[in-house]
Amino acid sequence: MKSCLFCKIVSGDAASDIIYENDDLIVFKDIHPIAPVHVLIVPKKHFTHLIEMVTSEDGRAVLSNIAELLPDIVLAAGLENRGFRLVNNCKEEGGQTIAHVHFHLIGGRPLKLELP
Ligand code: 5GP
Ligand code: ZN
Repeated sequence: MKSCLFCKIVSGDAASDIIYENDDLIVFKDIHPIAPVHVLIVPKKHFTHLIEMVTSEDGRAVLSNIAELLPDIVLAAGLENRGFRLVNNCKEEGGQTIAHVHFHLIGGRPLKLELP
């Protein structure tokens, strides 16, 4: 999608600090980290939000790929010996600000239940 920021990051038209990549997904550092480690797991294919993703066969395949690769992604993020939080904000009321599905992988400090 031409106007989508994360599609531009996927295509290389916008800069990002990539820590992991395969054919289906890219993982890069969040520009406004809320913890020492804060990366975004982003499918290369554009899905607007999680529900759009899981209601398509392609999207479910990518989600399953993310699940399979999670240990490798956690390792690339340097969180293999620590806990972490994996978050998806879905649609406006869920706090989603970028309309291209993504998962926040957050860690490197103790996290409490924070629901701003
Ligand atoms: P959401 O609020 O949609 O769940 O998360 C969007 C995330 O994208 C936010 O944590 C925000 O800091 C991050 N973000 C917004 N613009 C950029 C950008 O240009 N580059 C990177 N790396 N992260 C961004
Ligand atoms: Zn997109």
